[in-house]
Amino acid sequence: MLSKNDMIKLNITSLTSDGDGVARTGEGIVVFVPDTAVGDCISARILKVRKNIAYGKAEEILTPSPDRITPDCSVSRQCGGCVYRHVTYEAELRAKRQKVIDCVTRIGKLDGGLVREIIPSATTDGYRNKAMIPVGLDKNGSVTMGFYARRSHRIVPCAECRLSPGIFNRISADFYEFMKERPALVYSENNRGGVRHLYLRYAEASGDVMVCVVAGKRHFEDEAILYDSLKEKYPQIKSIVVNINPDDTNVILGKKCYTVFGGDCITDTLCGLQFDIAPRSFYQVNRTQAERLYGIARDYACLTGEETLLDLYCGTGTIGLSMARDCKSLIGVEIIPEAIENAKRNAQRNGIGNARFLCADATAAAAQLKGEGIAPDVIVVDPPRKGLTPELIKTVAQMRPARVVYVSCDPATLARDLALFTEQNYSVKEITPVDMFPRTAGVESVVLLSRKMPDDKIEVDLDLDELDLTSAELKATYQEIKDYVLKEYGFKVSTLYISQVKRKCGIIERENYNHSRKENPHIPQCPKEKEDAIRAALEHFAMI
Ligand code: SAH
Repeated sequence: MLSKNDMIKLNITSLTSDGDGVARTGEGIVVFVPDTAVGDCISARILKVRKNIAYGKAEEILTPSPDRITPDCSVSRQCGGCVYRHVTYEAELRAKRQKVIDCVTRIGKLDGGLVREIIPSATTDGYRNKAMIPVGLDKNGSVTMGFYARRSHRIVPCAECRLSPGIFNRISADFYEFMKERPALVYSENNRGGVRHLYLRYAEASGDVMVCVVAGKRHFEDEAILYDSLKEKYPQIKSIVVNINPDDTNVILGKKCYTVFGGDCITDTLCGLQFDIAPRSFYQVNRTQAERLYGIARDYACLTGEETLLDLYCGTGTIGLSMARDCKSLIGVEIIPEAIENAKRNAQRNGIGNARFLCADATAAAAQLKGEGIAPDVIVVDPPRKGLTPELIKTVAQMRPARVVYVSCDPATLARDLALFTEQNYSVKEITPVDMFPRTAGVESVVLLSRKMPDDKIEVDLDLDELDLTSAELKATYQEIKDYVLKEYGFKVSTLYISQVKRKCGIIERENYNHSRKENPHIPQCPKEKEDAIRAALEHFAMI
C-alpha cells in the first residue's frame, strides 16, 4: 500500500482541470502531481494518501515530456495564477480542449464530437487588462504584495507578473514602495480599516488606467502623497478610486466606491463600440480574445434584423450591444447596478436606440419577462462560474427562443446546464472552446443550442452520419470534411452546415431536420463561402 513519504516512479498520462499531472500506480491508485506534463516520467514523493487517490510532489524528472519548457517566471510554481508555464502553449490548448470534452461527455452526457477546435489567444503574455494585487503583512510584519498561492491566502511576492501589462507592474512597484514604509496601513484582523488590495484596470484602446485602492475605510494616512505621486508619474491614470471593504470576507470588492481623482469609469473600445467600465462592473480581461468570443456568439446568434434578443448576465452590455444593430430589439439583464448604469450609457454613447436594460437577478427577470409575454427569438446567457439555475433554464425554454447562445467560463457547470437544456427540447449544435486566459487553468466556451422543431425531434438526437444512408461506401465522415475544409480553406465549418450542403447536393435524401429557411427560419444557414468549400470537400471525397 502507498504511504506518505514513499518515493515512487510515475508516468504522467493526463492533466486535471487545474493543470495537475495525473498518474496511476501499479495498484491502480490515481496520483495527482502539480507542475508535471503529459509524458513526464518522474520520481515523486507521496504527500497525502486518501482511499484510491494520492497527492505527490515531483522530486526529480527522470524523462521529461516533449511538452516541457522552462518556466519563464521565477514564482510560477508558488503562485496560484499560472498552471501551464512549464508546458508549451500547444500542450496547454490540448489540455484545455480536453477539459471541455471531458465535462460535456462525463457530466453533460453529450457527444464529444460537438466540441470544435479551441481558439488560441493571439498573445499569451501581458494580455490581462485587470489585476487584483493583495497587500498583506508577512510573518515578520513586513509589507508584502503579489498574488495568492494556490488555494490559499498566502501572498507570493511577485514584482513582474507576465500576465499583466508593464504599466501594472510599474504602478504596483510604486505602490509597494509607498506601503513598505507604512505597515500600519495594511488591513489585518486588528486593523479592519486598512488597505487590502491594489486593483488596476487598463483600457487597451485608449491606454487609460484606473487605480482602485481597496481598503476598510475611505481615508488613510498619507493618501495624498500616494495619489499625487501616481498622478504625476503616470499620466495614463485617468481615475483613482477607493473601494470600501471592511468585512471579513474573501470577496475582494465592497459595495461602495469613492472617486478621488478623475472619472468614475475608464472607457475601452470593443467590437468597434465604446464601453464605460466602472470599478465594480465586469469586463472581459483579455480584450482581443473577447472580440473573438463575441464574434462566435454573434455567428451562433445568426441575427437577421428581425429578432428580439435577450442578453442575460449582460454586465456593461457588451455582448448584446455588439449585436444590437443586427436585431430588432435588445433587452439586457444584470444584477450589479453600476454595470446596468454603464450599459445604459454605453447604448446611448454608441447611438443604439433599440436596447433596454434591467437591473435584476437573471432568474427573476426572465420569469417576469415571460409573464409580460415577451418571446425572445435568441437568448444569450453568460453567467458567472456557478452557471444557471434550473428554474432559469426552464423559463428560457418556455420562452421558446429558436436559439440559445451559452457563453461559459466553467465547463463543468456548463455541461450540467446543457444536460438540463436537452431535457427542455433544446439540442446542442456546437461547442467552441476559447482560450481567454493563457497560462492559467480557466477556459471559456461558447455553445449554440437550438430548439428542436416538431419534425426534427428524433433526427437531431442522432449522429448525423447515421442519417446519411446513401453512398455509404464512398462517404467521408463529417470530421474528415471539416478537416479538409480547414486545411484547404483555413476556416471551420459546422456539422450543421455540412448537412445543409449535403442535402442541397441530394446526398441526404431523407426528410431531414434542416429544411429550407422558409420552412424553418430559426436554423443558421450556411454562408456561400462555406458552402463552396464544403462542396469542394464533397467533390474531393467523390461524394458528388
Ligand atoms: N456578458 C458580460 C458579463 C459576463 S460576467 C460580458 O461579457 O462582459 C457575468 C455577469 O453576471 C457579471 O456582470 C455579474 O455581475 C452578473 N451576475 C452575477 N449573478 C447574477 C444574477 N444572479 N443575475 C444577473 N446577473 C448576474
